[in-house]
Amino acid sequence: MPPAPILRVALPTPLRQLFDYRNPGHPMRPGMRVRVPFGRQRLVGVVMATAETTDVPAERLKAVLQPLDDRPVFDAGLLELLRWAAGYYHHPIGEVVAAALPKALRLGASVSAWEERWHITPAGRAAHLAGEPKRSPRRQALLAALLGTERTAAELREQLGESWRAATRPLAERGWIESAQVPCGPPPAQSGPPGRGPALNEEQRAATERIQASLGRFDAFVLQGVTGSGKTEVYLRVTEQALALGRGALVLVPEIGLTPQLVGRFRERFGVPLAVLHSGLTDPERLLAWRAAFTGHARVVLGTRSAVFAPVADLGVIIADEEHDASYKQHDGGFRYSARDLAVMRARGAAVPVVLGSATPALETLHNVAAGRYTRLALTRRAAEAAPPRIALIDLRAHAHTAGLSTPAAQAIERHLGAGGQALVFLNRRGYAPTLLCTACGWIAPCRDCDARLTVHLGARELRCHHCGAHAPLPERCPQCGFAVKPVGQGTERLEEALAQRFAGVPCVRLDRDVVRRRGDLEAAVQRVVSGEGRILVGTQMVTKGHDFPNVTLVVVLNADQGLFSTDFRAPERLAQTIVQVAGRAGRGTRPGEVLIQTEFPDHPLLTGLLGEGYEGFARTALAERQQAAWPPFTRLAAVRDSARTAEAALQFLTDARALAGGARGIRLLGPVPAAMAKRAGRFHAQLLLESPGRGGLHQFLEAWLPRLEELPSARRVRWALDVDPMELF
Ligand code: ADP
Ligand code: ZN
Ligand code: ZN
Repeated sequence: MPPAPILRVALPTPLRQLFDYRNPGHPMRPGMRVRVPFGRQRLVGVVMATAETTDVPAERLKAVLQPLDDRPVFDAGLLELLRWAAGYYHHPIGEVVAAALPKALRLGASVSAWEERWHITPAGRAAHLAGEPKRSPRRQALLAALLGTERTAAELREQLGESWRAATRPLAERGWIESAQVPCGPPPAQSGPPGRGPALNEEQRAATERIQASLGRFDAFVLQGVTGSGKTEVYLRVTEQALALGRGALVLVPEIGLTPQLVGRFRERFGVPLAVLHSGLTDPERLLAWRAAFTGHARVVLGTRSAVFAPVADLGVIIADEEHDASYKQHDGGFRYSARDLAVMRARGAAVPVVLGSATPALETLHNVAAGRYTRLALTRRAAEAAPPRIALIDLRAHAHTAGLSTPAAQAIERHLGAGGQALVFLNRRGYAPTLLCTACGWIAPCRDCDARLTVHLGARELRCHHCGAHAPLPERCPQCGFAVKPVGQGTERLEEALAQRFAGVPCVRLDRDVVRRRGDLEAAVQRVVSGEGRILVGTQMVTKGHDFPNVTLVVVLNADQGLFSTDFRAPERLAQTIVQVAGRAGRGTRPGEVLIQTEFPDHPLLTGLLGEGYEGFARTALAERQQAAWPPFTRLAAVRDSARTAEAALQFLTDARALAGGARGIRLLGPVPAAMAKRAGRFHAQLLLESPGRGGLHQFLEAWLPRLEELPSARRVRWALDVDPMELF
């Protein structure tokens, strides 16, 4: 076939269209990248379609400058997913496509995989025998690492740590080692024999067989299993089967669920290279991981949200662990998608099964089960013979407490420590105290740029805003009246201090974003708990996900009450999920666990329901309430959010937008209203909510309405974005 004369290209611009270019004769297919002229710029775009003709007049039609690929970077399935996502989220196709590529590829980097390999020279060998280089253990180690074999940069980094590269220069300058860029070879031989998992229990076997039977066609499964029931073991078996059939697997995890433990379990089990994609990678690392997946070098791709767009050669199955997790939803920037929902769409397009795993499935997901769209597979018992934990409430009004820790909770910690167990204390607030107060005049340290208080960070001697990142030195005295100021309320830092006082000599490990700053910090902290060195673990949300702490027998939820009375209709769901997830950290090994939830509202139906009937019972009640109140999943929502320098401008745009909606049939408009925290980082935020009984009506409306919003004069004074299926409201 002769090359198509016209290429229809997606370019990274906010315009809702493709751009036609003349093809000077390259053999181009959809999914390949091209460099094109665009105004005075040159942009990298992706060919979405080829055509014989165009409406662009010949004198305005420009030619492609350069083809960048000789095979598509997106296969047909991914292209279809991107088109679908652009339509469903009403976002410009060019930006959707850009979001699906690593930055290096957006800028035109080559997809073919070259890697840097180092080897030792004969002179280097002689030097090594002579005991060189003297006085530099780091260089010695590098030379020694290359003695037996050449190694890739990635291998050297893994073996010698980040500082390996600094050691290369002096050695290369003396001619002892050399490097070369070589094309990625065939996958290395298996590093060891693949591991064998435990024999599956009855429920695990049933679930595994059911999913395996669907390999080769689309089917959506919800693997609902309490924490520790062996869901990961099921993922491993299903992946194993897909690999045996010559197919690859895509495994999605929430942002903080991508633990070294989980990666380790996949790595050990299969002995094949994995590609791991997460937000902590540098651009070159991301490109390497992407290439490994693209070339089929890595057959299993493990990653967070945006990995839903990762190439997987011969995709055979998609797994989304902790599918309820809010971090699957991109909730800032322009393109706000749900990776969980896209995973289902991708599986459908690729005709492969998708497994959504959770101990606490989202209410939307349970609704899809009830409607017959998804098949539920239940794991009702803990795998390793661990008994379910006992859960009880502690009435905070009836007991004395120090730094938020009640007497019964402290006694329980003592009891569990005495019996050789470990205790986990959960508090979803980092820092020392959420408020700095002057007891004389009532002054409270505010953030200048947000409607928020500054949090006290005692160790750093700073006040910090958790919303905009502003910080200031911790004042000794009230700037208003000169009286002494006092931190009020609890954060994890203060809790750690209180625990250290109460349990003198008992090592405490804290896990939150203040202590986990660099790569490796999380691993180190988790390791201190797993090894038994740390006896008490204090942490935020970060402790609730993924980690397996077999010797933790007690979990204390310091305060369950945030979330009981929120205006966001999803707050109860999130609270129930958090409680169940954190409770699941107790008694994962062979010892029975105990969970204590401190609250000032022990009679609140959410808490009593959760205790009496578990998550199941909670979900039933909550879904009935959603139906009655006409909230999702019984209706469809979209939110237009904006921000501006003034509150008036933010509201004006949304007011104009609402006026444009006129009396659209079947669409209920709520607002505009200022966001709950209207001022954030110096800008004012507001929101207009759209609700519709059905998806079709909502999307038809948006299709016609959005282009008109772009033309509103008031749009120029704001930044705005559409959020379809918003997860967080107000
Ligand atoms: P989940 O992912 O549901 O939290 P995991 O798969 O991590 O559960 O399993 C919890 C623990 O039980 C792990 O230590 C795992 O190795 C172990 N385990 C899983 N399945 C079995 C089994 N069939 N027999 C024995 N131990 C198992
Ligand atoms: Zn004062
Ligand atoms: Zn702030």
